[in-house]
Parts: sequence; C-alpha cells; structure tokens
Amino acid sequence: MNGRFAPSPTGDLHLGNLRTALIAWLSARSRSAGFLVRMEDLDRVTSSVEYERRQLTDLAALGIDHDGDVVRQSERFPLYDAALRRLEERGLVYPCWCTRREILQAAQAPHERQGVYPGTCRHLDDDGRRERARQARELVGDRAPALRLDAATARKMLADETDLVVHDLVLGDVEAPVDDVVLRRNDGVPAYHLAVVVDDALQGVDEVVRGDDLAPVTSTQILLSRVLEYPIPRYAHVPLVVGPDGERLAKRHGAVTLSDLRSRGRTPTEILSAMLRTLGLEPVASLSDLADRVEDFDWTVVARVLRPWVADDL
Ligand code: GLU
Repeated sequence: MNGRFAPSPTGDLHLGNLRTALIAWLSARSRSAGFLVRMEDLDRVTSSVEYERRQLTDLAALGIDHDGDVVRQSERFPLYDAALRRLEERGLVYPCWCTRREILQAAQAPHERQGVYPGTCRHLDDDGRRERARQARELVGDRAPALRLDAATARKMLADETDLVVHDLVLGDVEAPVDDVVLRRNDGVPAYHLAVVVDDALQGVDEVVRGDDLAPVTSTQILLSRVLEYPIPRYAHVPLVVGPDGERLAKRHGAVTLSDLRSRGRTPTEILSAMLRTLGLEPVASLSDLADRVEDFDWTVVARVLRPWVADDL
C-alpha cells in the first residue's frame, strides 16, 4: 500500500506540483500507507540531477517526507523492456514511423477522434511497413520506428467494448477514449505511459494522485495495466494551479516556485498554510503541525472544495 509523487526533474517544482505532492502525501499518511518519490527522468536531455536535488529539497522544506530511496526511471530500463516484450508476445505492439507533423495532419481529417493517434501505421502488412519505413527514411533518414500499443486489440482481448470509464476520487466518472500510445520512442527510450504503469505496479502503488492534465490518458494506462495483469490503483486527478489570468501557472506569472516565494519573504509555513486552506484544512503555525492535519484529510471534502488554485494571494 503506497502513495507516490512522481515528478520529472526538468525544472523547479511550482506551486501546482507542490500542492499535488502535499495532497498525495496527506492521503497516503491518513491511511497509513507508504509514500514514495519517483523521479521520472526517462528523458536524459531535459532531466538533471541538479533539478532532482532541488525538487527533493523543496519537498523536505514543506515537511513532505517519503519512505525508502528515491527511485529513478533512468535506472529501470530493463523492467520496461521486459513489460514491452510481454505486450509484444500478446501481439499488442506495432511499429510506427509517423512524424509529429504527419500525426497532426492526419488527425485533422474529418471524423478523426480528437487527440488520439489516427492509426496510420496500425494494421500494416509487411509491404506496408516496408513502404512506411522507406517514406520515413526519405523524410528523416534512417532511424528505428517508435513502438505503439494496439489499444483496440487490447480491448478486444479483455472483451471490453466500451471506452474505459475511470472512477476518479476528485473528478468522478471520467470517460476518455483509449489511445495507441507510444511504448518505446524512436530513440529507443521507454515511453512515459509504459514506465509509469510498470513502476506503479512494481512499487505497490495503489493510489495515484497527480495533475488533472493526465486525466485523459488514465483510461489507456488502466488498459495497459490490465493487459499486463497488474492491479489497478485508484486515481485522483487534482486541478493545477493557475495564474490570475486563468492560464496554467508558468514562469511569466512571477513567483511560482518555493524559492521565488522565499526570496519575496514568504516562509515555508505560510506557503504550506495557503495550500492547506485550498484543501479545506486549517493552516499551520509551524511545520511540525502538519502531522496534525493528516487525520483531518478527507477525499470527500477535498473533492468538494478543490479548485484550480489562483495563486495570486501569496
Ligand atoms: N512525471 C509526470 C509529471 O511530472 C507525472 C506522472 C504521473 O504522476 O503519473 O507530470
């Protein structure tokens, strides 16, 4: 029984990420579950050890502790490769040579389902694959295809005729189409969707709390978990923090990270208190008071009061 926070170490955590971490931590501690931190550093170009260090420092500064060592996805490629092989053995993986531009163009065709892979490379025979490989070589030179999940076949295998409805602790029932997500990128790196599903299962994560930008992909992740015969965690997608203009919080909004706010004279206790208020919880006078908020944490209250947080009162 574990909760988790799984940031990508590609920048400083902003208030939205920190609030998500706090909710995940409060929920885990309130049900006496473990709480894990996992660094989603699959992308070695954008990730850095320095950001990892700063993210962990920020979590600690707010009193958000974790159990065991921090796990890094960059050190677990063999686990993702093994899961990919299991999917391949079941006939659920196909190569895809599409460029980003081709996908965008194909997705604009009428009747295409919005936001999902349009299926250009799905169900190709050997000749079709050779032809796609040739076209790709002309466009971008020699490179390996990406590998995608054949979601429709996976659903048939599970005798699932409807799109998966996700029962979310915050959002209620969310119905989203499953998608042929990438499982291995064309540079050979395992893709996020596969890694997250493998890690949550192998780490005994039974509750996933994360930003609601990931709500639409959850049905596909559940599908992946099911075909890999993993237990399905419960999900809570929490609203992001937005700037005063209603847009997703970004650097241009000014003080968006803990260090920004601290340099403006805000203490960790004040920042923590502001976050707790958005969850319907009492503020704290010191970091050690956080332990007292754990027993007051209640998903039904949180689901009722949680809003995109307009971070203009800090
Ligand atoms: N690493 C992802 C992010 O930072 C979160 C993935 C997840 O929580 O499932 O947005």
